[in-house]
Amino acid sequence: MDFDLFVIGAGSGGVAASRRAAVHGARVGIVEMGRIGGTCVNRGCIPKKLFTYAAHYSEDFREAAGFGWQEVQPKFAWRDLVAAKDREVARLNQVYEGLLHSGNVQLLRGRARLRDANTIDVDGETVRAKHILLATGSHAVVPEIEGEEFGFTSDAAFDLPQLPKRVVIVGGGYVAVEFASIFRGLGVAVTVVHRADGILRGFDDDVRTFLTDELRKKDIAFRARQSVKRITNKGSTLQVHTDTNESLAADGVLFATGRAANTGDLGLDLAGVRLNENRAVQVDADSRTSTPNIFAIGDLTNRKQLTPVAIAEGRAVADLLFGPGGRHLNYDLVPSAVFSLPPVGTVGLSEEQARARFGAVDVYRSSFRPLRHTASGSDERALTKLVVDPATDRVLGAHMVGPEAGEIIQGLAVALTAGATKAQFDATLAIHPTAAEEFVLLRTKAAPKAA
Ligand code: NDP
Repeated sequence: MDFDLFVIGAGSGGVAASRRAAVHGARVGIVEMGRIGGTCVNRGCIPKKLFTYAAHYSEDFREAAGFGWQEVQPKFAWRDLVAAKDREVARLNQVYEGLLHSGNVQLLRGRARLRDANTIDVDGETVRAKHILLATGSHAVVPEIEGEEFGFTSDAAFDLPQLPKRVVIVGGGYVAVEFASIFRGLGVAVTVVHRADGILRGFDDDVRTFLTDELRKKDIAFRARQSVKRITNKGSTLQVHTDTNESLAADGVLFATGRAANTGDLGLDLAGVRLNENRAVQVDADSRTSTPNIFAIGDLTNRKQLTPVAIAEGRAVADLLFGPGGRHLNYDLVPSAVFSLPPVGTVGLSEEQARARFGAVDVYRSSFRPLRHTASGSDERALTKLVVDPATDRVLGAHMVGPEAGEIIQGLAVALTAGATKAQFDATLAIHPTAAEEFVLLRTKAAPKAA
């Protein structure tokens, strides 16, 4: 065998797993056909966060007058933002490659295909490995409609030749909401067309409605319960036709309609690796596939399509095979943020999930105007919410919409992971004045919602 572990895909999950395995003394190889760092570094979390910062400046400039700054008249250059993003992504590509090198992981370049359970073909070269880890990620999917070729996905959104004046966004998930805020902040007219009743399916219902209201205040338009049927191109203007016979004029159409596992052309069948009903690789709690020496992690398995989840799953595989033993992630306690403006932070169960599992739950909720906006002139509000199990007093979920929600919820995720009770939240002193302090000052139970 050439390697104890051979990893296919050098995204966040693959890189983390390979380095951890090498730390345990395994001979490790990794192969990548694109840029090192995968979706998160190259066309996901990192460029998205940079673009979100850029979008937020428009609010800052506007609100500065409320604090005595006068005549702030900025001009925005899309090309400069794209160039700044390119520089940071290139830097991170180098950092990741350096980490593989210094971590004693051999990097191969090319397209990998399984030939059997221990053999991989990398552009005509044969590699033999005792264990294989599949970490090939996912790709954006586009609905099959007439004129789909006039739209783009989040892959291209970061490199558009110019900033469109009007954008229609199809979908209501993470990508749709984040790009709605990015484009709107950069001055684009944005309409979000989503097929469900509300955006961000699976999030707490209060969070969903609260965020929708906040985004509406920023002039983001929503078309709920509508699907895009056809896109036509008239001169330089696109017409987006919905199933309610509405026609929306746009200069760009972003498809944010979910992601599918990259299972194609991998030779999975030759190695006996089976897919599940979602067309993702089927794995057990140890991330083991239907072939015992082959493992799969991250978006390819479609458990939670989040970078830190892929990293944790990858490290657990390395620990299982070469270290102290694996561990199973608690997928109920995966914190996440939606970097809309304002952002959402969430950890644990939504009120709806908690009710479905525990029956009656206690809910504590506060909606307030952040101090900054008493002077800024903005009418943006924030929401904090705790969901508590009355039987044990344990906090089952913490949710926030408001400035720095991701930063705040990261801290609360520690508390929830440690099993904190509402009494322990109450016993925690506040930091004043902050928005985060609301979480330790929630005293009044919300009235139960009408069924
Ligand atoms: P999501 O699964 O979050 O959302 C997909 C959206 O598209 C949903 O609103 C869905 O509607 C809708 N949709 C799906 N198919 C169609 C269709 N054929 N026609 C119309 N609408 C459709 O996917 P995203 O692409 O937004 O993001 C992919 C994943 O990447 C996320 O789930 C998340 O895990 C991850 N991500 C995480 C981020 C973060 O952590 N901040 C940022 C970006 C992505 P419906 O609800 O009705 O199914």
